[in-house]
Amino acid sequence: MNMADRLSEERRARLAAQRLAERQAKELHEANKRIAAHARVLTDEVVEKREEVAHVRHEAETLQGEVREVREHLVMAESAIEIAERRLWDSLETIRDGFAVFDEHGVMIAANRAFLAPFKTYPCVKPGFSYDALIELVAEEGIIDPEGESRAGWQAAMRARLAMQEIAPQTVRFWNGAHVKLMDRRTRDGDMVTLALNITDTIRREAELETARDRAESANRAKSAFLANMSHEIRTPMNGVIGMADLLSDSGLSEEQQLYVETIRNSGEALLVIINDVLDYSKIEAEKLVLNEAPFDLERCIHEIIMLLQPGARDKGLELAVDYDMFLPTGFVGDVGRMRQILTNLVGNAVKFTEAGHIVVRVVGLPDGGEDRFRLHVTVEDTGIGIPEAKLRSIFDEFNQVENERNRKHDGTGLGLAISRRLVGIMGGEMWVDSEVGVGSGFGFSVSLPVGEDASTLPLVTPGWIERVMLLDAEEMPRSILERQLGVMQAKVSSHGSVEALLAAAPGGKDVVLVAHHPPKVDGLEAVAKIAEAADPAAILLMSNAPPGAGAELGRIEALLPRPVPRRALYKAFGELKTPPVRREPEPEDDVAAAVMFSSGRGRRGEAAEPARTVIVEEPVRVEAFDGAPAAPEGGEAAALPEAEAVDVLGRDDALDGPLDAPLDQEAAETPRTEPVDETGRDDVTDEPMAAPEEPGGEGDVELLAALEMDVQGDLGPRDAPVADAVAAVPEDAAPELPPDAPEPLRKLRVLVAEDNKTNQFVFSKMVKSLDIELIFADNGVEAVAAYELSPPDILFTDISMPEMDGKEATRRIRALEAEAGRARMPIIAVTAHAMAGDDVEILEAGCDGYLTKPLKKAALIEHILEIRTEGILPVLPEALEETAPEGRPELRA
Ligand code: ADP
Repeated sequence: MNMADRLSEERRARLAAQRLAERQAKELHEANKRIAAHARVLTDEVVEKREEVAHVRHEAETLQGEVREVREHLVMAESAIEIAERRLWDSLETIRDGFAVFDEHGVMIAANRAFLAPFKTYPCVKPGFSYDALIELVAEEGIIDPEGESRAGWQAAMRARLAMQEIAPQTVRFWNGAHVKLMDRRTRDGDMVTLALNITDTIRREAELETARDRAESANRAKSAFLANMSHEIRTPMNGVIGMADLLSDSGLSEEQQLYVETIRNSGEALLVIINDVLDYSKIEAEKLVLNEAPFDLERCIHEIIMLLQPGARDKGLELAVDYDMFLPTGFVGDVGRMRQILTNLVGNAVKFTEAGHIVVRVVGLPDGGEDRFRLHVTVEDTGIGIPEAKLRSIFDEFNQVENERNRKHDGTGLGLAISRRLVGIMGGEMWVDSEVGVGSGFGFSVSLPVGEDASTLPLVTPGWIERVMLLDAEEMPRSILERQLGVMQAKVSSHGSVEALLAAAPGGKDVVLVAHHPPKVDGLEAVAKIAEAADPAAILLMSNAPPGAGAELGRIEALLPRPVPRRALYKAFGELKTPPVRREPEPEDDVAAAVMFSSGRGRRGEAAEPARTVIVEEPVRVEAFDGAPAAPEGGEAAALPEAEAVDVLGRDDALDGPLDAPLDQEAAETPRTEPVDETGRDDVTDEPMAAPEEPGGEGDVELLAALEMDVQGDLGPRDAPVADAVAAVPEDAAPELPPDAPEPLRKLRVLVAEDNKTNQFVFSKMVKSLDIELIFADNGVEAVAAYELSPPDILFTDISMPEMDGKEATRRIRALEAEAGRARMPIIAVTAHAMAGDDVEILEAGCDGYLTKPLKKAALIEHILEIRTEGILPVLPEALEETAPEGRPELRA
């Protein structure tokens, strides 16, 4: 190779090396660039990481702080829990009741000392011991008293109990008499928490309370028995007092003496009223009061009460009115005696606490679940002194009288409203009051009663020939009630407040005029005379509650009606008006009729009351009562009646006691009293209302008597001669005449009376003085049995409470003697003043055939004697009268 070649080769190599060097330098540069960029990135990352590290470090530091804090909290929480737990256990340990927790398998987790205390001698009883084993232990070791059950039975019962979903509390008696009530509850986790409450003290207190209650109940029973006895003890001598006063008043006394006797009688009756109130209340308290439910006529019942209370109201110039729902039936089933008692109390109070204005008894009713039952609302509204609001709330509480000067003058036990409200309560109803001082009061009650079977609807239409019914009543309130009643009767009513106004409406030949006698505003008789003179109406009817004055002229009056007039009487009076009406001239008897209707006499024998029973009321004057029936039967049988002597031991005219008893008077016999209330003749034994005022004892007897008697006559037609009248008619020393064909009489009827009280023996003998009988008295049961053994009487009247041997025992012995000797059963009638329900059962169980209550009623007594029909005895009454004696009228039995 030449040089040039070599040089060129070298140059080429150099050039190549150069190029390589250049390329590498370039690559190096690139590499450096990249490294620089990378270094930059790395630097950035480092910076970032550093920041991150700083952040993380910060966070770590924060966390560390938090952890520290949490730790501190934890420590605190733990200590709080510890404290709470300690407190809880301290508390659980402090309480005297046992507390334990068992796990779901019944293994004890924890228990307080009280729980473990009974097991002190059983160290095994501690957490870890099971409930099941505990049951076995307490039973087998005699820690508990299984109270009559076997140990195995007790354990089984306890285990069965724990298996229940809801575990009922269980009381366990420990060997030492302690009582523990176990209450077990399952928690949501299935654990069971058991509380063992020591109820020993509670049980002891309960036992003490029970003993105290038993004692209180027995004291209450003793109180009731005491009251019943007291009633007997008081009523028995009262029988003597009132009976003797009555007999005394018949013995030709001077006027002054008569006044004294009246006072004795009235005071006696007033005392009986108080006793009866207290007795009623104690009966209600002792829950011994039973309702005697029977059909009755509510409207009639209200009118009877109005009549009873009318004299007192009239004396004060008060208007009494009845506003009976025109579309409400009048017949219901209920205890009429109690209903009367409530109403008499309310209306009596209204009269007592009202000085001027009126008193209205309103009755409305709505069907109560069907037409055969009505909810009745009865209200008694007055315009009296009213009751302060503060007193209203307690007005029905017993012995609660509103004390103020105005009513302090009124008598009363303060029991009337309390008794009434309780009675209404017993009937399932309620009572209320609404009152404003100086304006008036409204007492009301509501009861739901079934409609009576005989619930008749009244004839609602006036006779077609009547063109107008012209009403004259000075008082707006009763006038508006009458207007409505007449309106319902489809009468065209023209209503007036004065005669002049009425005459201005020109009464004509087809008009009926209804005049309300209401002096001094309207003198009814004067008004009638004026009307008759100035016009010629078809008929004039007079309604009255007051005397029109002596010698009054009744000639033009077609019918006399009570005021307020019962609807039935009104309907009937209209129905019986003749067309054309009969006219007549006045006759002397009219005045007597007026006396019947209007007399305000005291209703005592020999006084104004008397004509009420003997008057002959001739056609066409008709005195209307409830049924609007003629006042007296034709022929005036009253003329045949003896001079009124039919008086019971309480001196009551027995017009209501004799044949007039039925049917109205059976109700009337239970009528509670007026003021002063007359409840003395109660039939307590049968739990009739304690009050059985056969008739009012004071003023107003006449009206009631007349009205009731008329009513009864209306119901019954001509009446039988009443036994009592007949008896009374026997002259005292009349020797009985024997019928010519009678068999040879052997002896008088023998009546044995067992009665320890001499006064009552005397009263008894006086009551039967007109009978021709042999009366034998025994002072007690022993004597009665002895008398029977000596010579059996025909009838025995026996007192129940007597020394040595009581009436029941005597009856039992006599019945045994009878059976031994195979003798016929002798009638034995108990005579009792016992007042509690249930006594009658005992009396009849002892062998008595019936019973009479004290104070004795003459008619009832004689009735029993007249029922005896023994062969071969002298007639008890003279023949003529005996014939008229009704045979065995059950309604006269006690
Ligand atoms: P009593 O009439 O025997 O005192 P009550 O229980 O019947 O007992 O009445 C309690 C009291 O309620 C009465 O004393 C009287 O103060 C008051 N009272 C009752 N009814 C009325 C009435 N209609 N108007 C005003 N006060 C009355």
